[in-house]
Amino acid sequence: MKSNNIFELDPERLATTDEHGHRVYLYPEDVKGLWKSRRKVFYRFLILIYLFLPWIYFNGKPAFMIDIIHREFTFLGFTLHGVEPILFFLIAASGLAGIAFLVSSLGRVWCGWACPQTVFIQEIFMRVEALVEGKAKERRELDKAPWTMGKVLKRSIKWLLFIIISLHISHTFIGYFVGPRELFFITMNGPSEHLGLFVATMTFTLITLLDFGWFREQFCIIACPYGRIQSVLMDENSLVVSYNAKRGEPRRGSTSAERPDEGDCINCYNCVKVCPTGIDIRRGTQLECIACTQCIDACDDIMTKLKKPKGLIGYSSETELNGHKRKKITKRSFLYITTSVLFMLAFIYFLGASTKLQLVFLRGKTPFQMIESGQRITNQFTLKMSHQGEQHFKIYFKVKEVELKNLVQIITPVQPVLINTSEKKIVLFFKFSPEILKNGTRKISVEAFDEISHQTVATKEAVLVGPTH
Ligand code: SF4
Ligand code: SF4
Repeated sequence: MKSNNIFELDPERLATTDEHGHRVYLYPEDVKGLWKSRRKVFYRFLILIYLFLPWIYFNGKPAFMIDIIHREFTFLGFTLHGVEPILFFLIAASGLAGIAFLVSSLGRVWCGWACPQTVFIQEIFMRVEALVEGKAKERRELDKAPWTMGKVLKRSIKWLLFIIISLHISHTFIGYFVGPRELFFITMNGPSEHLGLFVATMTFTLITLLDFGWFREQFCIIACPYGRIQSVLMDENSLVVSYNAKRGEPRRGSTSAERPDEGDCINCYNCVKVCPTGIDIRRGTQLECIACTQCIDACDDIMTKLKKPKGLIGYSSETELNGHKRKKITKRSFLYITTSVLFMLAFIYFLGASTKLQLVFLRGKTPFQMIESGQRITNQFTLKMSHQGEQHFKIYFKVKEVELKNLVQIITPVQPVLINTSEKKIVLFFKFSPEILKNGTRKISVEAFDEISHQTVATKEAVLVGPTH
């Protein structure tokens, strides 16, 4: 028989769908408790980072900016120019392996504690909703109520506030890629002058508005690919939010002849009422659980009132629930963290190498020219100089081999060559005597000496050529 208790969920279908497959809108109740307080502090800290980081400037630059078009990455006032794809690959691979480690050890900690979807919905959108429309029960009743002036007014205020917040979020997000001050001046010019950017910002605003204001838990349950892959990364030692059935069962009202003693669960459904994805955690670990810990606080509150120990619902692993000691580091999590560290080390290595000056000699169309009645030979090259750091160089070129110093002359358009951009090309000539060649070639090392730092900042080999006889 169908229960009248809306919190007694049908085991055959999702908590957010009715028997016809239509969406059941959730009204999660608010909760107070230790975990809620911890999350509140952490959420506010993250909101500060997410929403204000790009608006802070260091040395006249945004604290964090990824300029995809110019391949530049800015962090705390330092800019990497011409970032090579390998750096993106290495940091992404390290991050992914790091997340895999986090999931295998701490379950869906990202989803419940740091995902912008959860953080913004829980700490901003649901607060605004509660402020305008009231607590969960009032919101549920308002939804069912006919469209009166009062309902129209409340809904209008709520969605107006949602639009303002979404506009701020989307502008901050776009600010991560173009710089907030630039974005501010761009917005002063009117949409038609930067139509592409305007369309991107408005599209992102609309997505944010619909997702955080209306779609909410549906995204986590249906659309988020990360939520799907987590079950593959977790094992019996991963920490998850779980119900201790050994202690809780038989819950009140479900005792039988074999189990006449009641367990600690009084079947109050408070854990279901507060769940943002609408599930009943007493049915075991479920894909919909985002580990937000709301049900832990709800149940702890009941246990306190009953003068029973807290923790009927808590962070635990399958191993612990079966009465064994949990392995904090398993082979799998060790593999993930090792992979993450290795990619990070490779990233640091390439990052260090990429900020150094790189020299590339590109030979001119004519391999060599004989001048001064055959007494001298010239080789023409295009020299490409690049680096991803911020420093400027004033370069003198010289031949490293001591015995060749007076025999090979390096001619550049100016001396020293100023490098004040991430990349510079010059035409460079080597003028030398034919005697230095062996079988028509000679490999030499060219040093780039920087007048600013008084150091040799790069050394590169070049091959000189001339007649073979
Ligand atoms: S079951 Fe508990 S931890 Fe999981 S989503 Fe629901 S309230 Fe959050
Ligand atoms: S909140 Fe605790 S006592 Fe109440 S139904 Fe959930 S598990 Fe049982």
